[in-house]
Amino acid sequence: MRFDVLTIFPGMFRGPLEYSILKRAQDQGIIQIHIHDLRDYATDKHRMVDDRPFGGGAGMVFKPEPIFRAVETLIGGRSVPASTAVILLSPQGRVFHQREAERLSRMERLILICGRYEGVDERVAEHLATDEISIGDYILTGGEIPAMVIIDAVTRLLPGALGHHASAQRDSFAEGILDYPQYTRPADFRGLKVPDILLSGHHAEIERWRRRKALEKTLRVRPDLLARAHLDERDRALLDEIKAEQASRRRGDPSTDKPTA
Ligand code: SAM
Repeated sequence: MRFDVLTIFPGMFRGPLEYSILKRAQDQGIIQIHIHDLRDYATDKHRMVDDRPFGGGAGMVFKPEPIFRAVETLIGGRSVPASTAVILLSPQGRVFHQREAERLSRMERLILICGRYEGVDERVAEHLATDEISIGDYILTGGEIPAMVIIDAVTRLLPGALGHHASAQRDSFAEGILDYPQYTRPADFRGLKVPDILLSGHHAEIERWRRRKALEKTLRVRPDLLARAHLDERDRALLDEIKAEQASRRRGDPSTDKPTA
C-alpha cells in the first residue's frame, strides 16, 4: 500500500508516522508513505496555493491548479486507476468508519489531500477526488490530522502490520459492535478486583461473558451499532437477557441491583 499526502505542512507528519506499528510497517515494506509539499506544485513564483473566495467572505480557499497538478503528476495522467483512491479530507465528506477503512485497505494507493483555511475549491471534490471523507462532525484546522487517522486505521488492517492479526479482527467495530473490557495484572488493585470469571480458566464461560459484556456496552453507549450489527441466535438471547435484567433493575428488583461482574 502506498500513501501520498498533499499538504502545505509536510513537517507535521514527522513524529506520528515514526512510531510503533506505522514505523514497523514502513520498515517491513508493508506501506510506503510519501509526503508532498503542495507548494511545489504551485504555478507562480510566490508558490501560492490559496486565493480569496469568489463571491466574497472571510478567509482563503485552496486553488484547484496546484492540487490537480500534484495528483496528475503522481498518477501520471488524468485518469485515476481503479486501485487508487484520491481522497479529499473535508468535514463535508462521508463520515469515516471501520467499513470504510476496510474498503480502503483493499486499494493499492491512497492519495490524501489536506485542506486548510476555508477549505478547497469545489472543483477538486467534483472533478478530481474519488472520495470526500470526514473524520467526524467537528471542524479541525486542517486535513493533516484526518489524513494521519486514515493512514493509521488502514495500515493496521494490512496483513502483517499487527503482531497478532487476530486482534484487528476482534477490535471494536470489526464485528459491528464494541470490544469487550480488558483487564491485566494485578488481579486486585486498591480493592478493585478483576471479575472472577476471567481468573477461572473456563474458556467457554469466559467467551460467553466477554460477548455479553461487549453487547451490554454497545447497547448502553452505541445502540445505533446494534441495529446494523450481524448478530446470531446466541447474541440475541444474550441481548434479551441483558434487557430483561435492565428492566427489572428499573423496577427496583434488589436481586439485580448491580451490573453483572
Ligand atoms: N469551511 C469548511 C467547512 O465548513 O466545511 C471548513 C474548512 S476547515 C477549517 C479546513 C480544512 O480542514 C478542510 O478543508 C479539511 O481538509 C480539514 N478538515 C477540517 N475538519 C475536518 C473533518 N472533520 N474531517 C476531515 N477534514 C477536516
